[in-house]
Amino acid sequence: MPEIGFLYFAWWTPLVFLFISGHLTNVATTIYLHRCMTHGGVKLNPVVSLPMRMWLWLSTGIVTREWVACHRKHHAFADKEGDPHSPVLLGLWQILLMGWRHYRIGVQEPGVVEKYGKGCPDDWIERWIFSRVGVSGIVLLLLVDVILFGFVWGIGIWVVQVIWMPILGGFVNGIGHWWGYRNYQTKDESRNFFPFGLLLGGEELHNNHHADPKSARFRRRWFEFDVGWIYLRIMSLFRLAKVSHAGFDRPRRSQPATVSAEEENPLMARAPAAGAE
Ligand SMILES: [Zn+2]
Ligand SMILES: [Zn+2]
Repeated sequence: MPEIGFLYFAWWTPLVFLFISGHLTNVATTIYLHRCMTHGGVKLNPVVSLPMRMWLWLSTGIVTREWVACHRKHHAFADKEGDPHSPVLLGLWQILLMGWRHYRIGVQEPGVVEKYGKGCPDDWIERWIFSRVGVSGIVLLLLVDVILFGFVWGIGIWVVQVIWMPILGGFVNGIGHWWGYRNYQTKDESRNFFPFGLLLGGEELHNNHHADPKSARFRRRWFEFDVGWIYLRIMSLFRLAKVSHAGFDRPRRSQPATVSAEEENPLMARAPAAGAE
């Protein structure tokens, strides 16, 4: 057993660790859960997808199939009755503060995961570890944090890590359909709430994403920055990622995006048509 807190050298080391940990969660969410598994805009080599799955299990306890199902249903019903987390229907503060609860309600609705969660990993590690004992990853992470930074810092870091994903999700799902600018006149209320997709991995460009859900690239205009896309480009150079769709180059104002998420997304198209429940 290593000495407790053996990575604690100064007060700032736990903060650096926390920043890196949060960035890893954001990047794994946008690249693996969102762009790859939900919309199929990119295929990932297991060399990168497996560590991302493992990190999400450790730091969030999220089950891939549930997250994917909830998000596909969001696209299918965006800002209309049936959307699991629309601030237009439920109010901004409900999504910002209680988004995690609406997520749980959404995935526990009978048939939702079966209907919208198709095409997700179903290997032994998913069946026996990541899905079956989802919260065990978070408990294991507490142990790791305490070993690395001692009891006080370790528990503090762990609490922030556990609430990181609910805050991230609430922010993107809330602000992303409430405030910001629009490049595309989509049928929903999606917005790009910040042009520099650095902190949230590129998810800030939410209107661009709703206009072309299958695109692995969220950036569309010269001043927009999508760090998730930069990571995907680097992974592609090493054949760790294969982008199947990167969208069109700039906003086509004369041709507003009116294509539904299901029509754009073959993964969703394989599921029964939205609204046919
Ligand atoms: Zn959205
Ligand atoms: Zn999406």
